[in-house]
Amino acid sequence: MPQHSSDNSQASARRGTCIACGAATKGPFGPCQACGTYTDVALVLSGPNLSLKTTITHYLRRVLRMPAIESGYLPSPFNTDGNLDASKRSTRRQYLTSISTFFAKLRLGFIVDAAFHSRKVRSDFYRILLQANPNIFILLLYVHCDDPEVRNYRRTKRNSQVLNTEKGAISREEEELSLRRYEIPDHETLPNNTPIPTIDVDTARMLVSWQSAQPSLLDDGHIASRVIVSVREALHTGFS
Ligand SMILES: [Zn+2]
Repeated sequence: MPQHSSDNSQASARRGTCIACGAATKGPFGPCQACGTYTDVALVLSGPNLSLKTTITHYLRRVLRMPAIESGYLPSPFNTDGNLDASKRSTRRQYLTSISTFFAKLRLGFIVDAAFHSRKVRSDFYRILLQANPNIFILLLYVHCDDPEVRNYRRTKRNSQVLNTEKGAISREEEELSLRRYEIPDHETLPNNTPIPTIDVDTARMLVSWQSAQPSLLDDGHIASRVIVSVREALHTGFS
C-alpha cells in the first residue's frame, strides 16, 4: 500500500490479521472473517456544518460496528456569547487527537466525525495517525451540501430538536462562518505525498463518488468499497 511510510516487516506480517481474534481479514483492510472487526483503518469525515456528517457517522458506526469519535460530544469550542474561542478550539482538538491516537495505536478500526475545516488541520491529523500506526489505512469522506434551501431546512429541523449533542442551536451566522472557513479537499496527500483516498458525499443531490485513482481499493472486501455501499444505503434510507 503506497501510504505505508515504514517497511516494518513485523507490522507487514501482522497485516491481514484481526486485532480482536487473530483470524484472517477479508483483504488487507477488510473485515475479520471470523468476528467482523476492522483492523488498521480510520474513516475521517470532514465537511461544514449541516452536511449530515453525524448522521452518516451513526449509520457507519452501526453497520460496520466500529467505534466513532464525535467532535460534537467533546467540549464546545464556543463561548456562551456564541463566539468561537481559539483556546477552547485548541482544547477540543487535543481531545480529538489523543482519543484518535489511542485507537490508532490499538490498531482497532474507527471513525472520526469532525469538521476539520482547514487543510492544515487535516494534514496534521493524518500525520499524527500515521505516527501512531504506520500501517493505518486512512479514508477521507468529504461530506457537503451546496444547496442553501436544504441547509436551511436542516438547520430549522436541528434547532427544533430538544436533545442536541453539540451546543444547542446553530445560527445562520455560524453556518455561514463554517462554510466560509471550510477548505474543500482537492487532491490532498498524506505526509509521504501519496494521494489520500477520498469519497465525495454530496448530501444535497444524494450522490456518492469515488475520488481516487486507485481502483484496486474498490475490490470486494476492501473497506473503501464497503464504505461507499454503506453511505449510499444511508442516503437512501430516508433521512433528510
Ligand atoms: Zn476477528
